[in-house]
Amino acid sequence: MRKPLLAGNWKMNKTIDESVALVKELAPLIKDVADREVLVCPTFPALKSVADAAANTNIMLGAQNIFWEEKGAFTAEVSGPMLVAAGCKYVIIGHSERRQYFGETDETVNKRVKAALKFNLLPIVCVGETLEQREANEMMKVVETQVKEGTKDLSADEWKKITIAYEPVWAIGTGKTASPEQAEEVHAFIRGLLPAEVKDSVRILYGGSMKPDNVADLMAKENIDGGLIGGAALKAADFAAIVKY
Ligand code: PEP
Repeated sequence: MRKPLLAGNWKMNKTIDESVALVKELAPLIKDVADREVLVCPTFPALKSVADAAANTNIMLGAQNIFWEEKGAFTAEVSGPMLVAAGCKYVIIGHSERRQYFGETDETVNKRVKAALKFNLLPIVCVGETLEQREANEMMKVVETQVKEGTKDLSADEWKKITIAYEPVWAIGTGKTASPEQAEEVHAFIRGLLPAEVKDSVRILYGGSMKPDNVADLMAKENIDGGLIGGAALKAADFAAIVKY
């Protein structure tokens, strides 16, 4: 009932030309995939060019952040209507790198989520504990707070447009993947936090060193509905192998 979503987070990698080349290399490798959704999230400058290159393919486009105002004197920020005009359907919100390096809080995550919904973008809300928090047994509390505060005051209709990404910070870009059992434990916990109306329909993605050789075991778990993929999404062959797990 939940269609898997495989989303590539390209982070601050690739120029416009390199981004276009990557999506052009990827498209033929996954052209027959219809039973799952495929998303790439390039940098802001590359969005429109990647959208054009991905036209008439099964590859969707997402942004890596959104500001909550529509326009005005907010130097360096990018708004929802701008992302939609560039061809975006999804937007990643509250990635741990934003939380760690750029002062993202659950409150600003919530503002971005509401702005995304207002401007017809589908939010991918990222949550996850650090190694310190896991070792101190604070993992579930941290994840619960991030989910609840980040999605505060959403209606059931708005909830239908939400995707959650569970990304244990200690597994991002480190080569250390959460075991399928470790991930499933938190995914099931997150599902238990969802409003009753959307409990079975909201997708919960796993992120953290997902690769061609571990994706199938992760995806076999009941509550893992896809992946948010960083490093492995930068190589067409690897990302295609993940999409076709
Ligand atoms: C990410 O940044 O969302 C991520 C999961 O990165 P990686 O796959 O490189 O761990």
